[in-house]
Amino acid sequence: MQNKIVVYTGPMFSGKTTALLGAYERATIAHKKVLAFKPKLDNRFGDNVIKSRKFGEVQAISITNLKDLLKYDVDVYIIDEFQFLEGDINVLLDLVDNKGKTLYVSGLDMTAERKPFGLMPELLSIADSVTKFIAVCHDCDEEKAIYSYYLGKKDTDIVVGNTEYIPLCRSCMKKRLKADKEHEEKFKDR
Ligand SMILES: [Zn+2]
Repeated sequence: MQNKIVVYTGPMFSGKTTALLGAYERATIAHKKVLAFKPKLDNRFGDNVIKSRKFGEVQAISITNLKDLLKYDVDVYIIDEFQFLEGDINVLLDLVDNKGKTLYVSGLDMTAERKPFGLMPELLSIADSVTKFIAVCHDCDEEKAIYSYYLGKKDTDIVVGNTEYIPLCRSCMKKRLKADKEHEEKFKDR
């Protein structure tokens, strides 16, 4: 499990974090030096942990920029919510190609506006392996959701752990967006 970049991506509620913590557990079993990282946001959930129902909690170091990873010398880097990190993607190539490190990374591939999210496109293109997870669609219950739809105000970024997001498939997203537009136009006319 050396010298590679493994990425788990997809919408919210698709099991990315569970896959990531599975990798954390395997690295621990293999007696690797492993650390977990997550973006430093405004800590609205209080603690620096990565959580999943299956694996419980893992302590995570808060970072803002990819170069912060260089302060830590471990065999395996576990990184959650990658879409919120800033910096130069070459830092990851340096870790893997020059230092022989292994990186397991998870993150949202798209914003709520269905745009590529942060550095995710760059990460996906340099990865050794990418798994794109799908979620169960909130509206039709089919296992084909690729979007994270925000139920609240539309002009803000995705907030980690926010329960106001639902996973949607393409056709249900289309219906929601159409309804949003109609709603918006109704209010404009008033
Ligand atoms: Zn659907």
